[in-house]
Amino acid sequence: FKTERFGQHILKNPQMAQAIVEKANLKPTDKVLEVGPGTGNLTTYILSQAKHVTAVEMDPRMAAELTKRFQGKPEQRKLEIIIGDFVKASLPYFDVCISNTPYQISSPLIFRILSHRPLPRTCILMFQREFALRLVAKSGTDLWSRLSANVQLYAKVDYLMHVGKNNFRPPPLVESSVVRIAPRDPPPPIRFEEFDGLGRVVFSRRNKTCHANFMAKGVLGMLEKNWKTWCSEMNQIVPDETNIKSLVESVLTETTYGEQRVAKMDVDDLLKLLAAFHDVGIHFA
Ligand code: SAM
Repeated sequence: FKTERFGQHILKNPQMAQAIVEKANLKPTDKVLEVGPGTGNLTTYILSQAKHVTAVEMDPRMAAELTKRFQGKPEQRKLEIIIGDFVKASLPYFDVCISNTPYQISSPLIFRILSHRPLPRTCILMFQREFALRLVAKSGTDLWSRLSANVQLYAKVDYLMHVGKNNFRPPPLVESSVVRIAPRDPPPPIRFEEFDGLGRVVFSRRNKTCHANFMAKGVLGMLEKNWKTWCSEMNQIVPDETNIKSLVESVLTETTYGEQRVAKMDVDDLLKLLAAFHDVGIHFA
């Protein structure tokens, strides 16, 4: 039960733990955030290379074990343990994030880190293999998705290594992979909700054309509502006869994205399409 609730699969292979930490290329001046340290199998290598580690651990029993592991050792003064849920904890400054957390919090983990300021230099994160492959997927491939686009808008993502089940105790049901997420700094000046909102529309049926997805039930109504809000915020009169459908179709035709298969559109295509919609006052959030 406990294992299920907290996703506690401990990395028992020290060579693997070391290899993961080495991928961070830590500097002696680095402050590191570790999410879900468990009994400290990654923490021990991080402490040997970094200036300071803040470890956020939700399970008080794990936190107690972690405290005990470094008690009275020179590393102790470099380690701060926060007991609590990473999703709610207030985070300190950090240069690098390293984490092997339960896979239920994969998405919140990434987006919380990408919205943290100042942005960290790099993150070395372990995920369920399928999730990792979606993060690094390129447009035009089967795994290219809204998740891939959202993360790649804000970060350079690289696949680093496969970690087989037998490196863990108890072994999980799924395979794992380690990826590097290096945030683009400064981040692109796009409101995430807008980009993600466009993604929700275009990726709703990946193998359809962009035009077909805009004509799907509910989409035009949502855009019209946003458009009216935008008009009133801009103190513009909402013209009675405006036909949102033809406005949308004119943007899709002029940008030539209407007939594109969504699976082929990359981040730049999505940004161009979003800009063209914004030019005529159409918003997605
Ligand atoms: N990092 C250790 C390792 O590699 O051996 C432990 C990995 S284990 C898969 C995940 C750890 O994250 C557990 O110690 C669990 O208690 C902790 N955890 C689960 N959910 C958490 C959350 N929301 N915030 C912080 N820690 C969490």
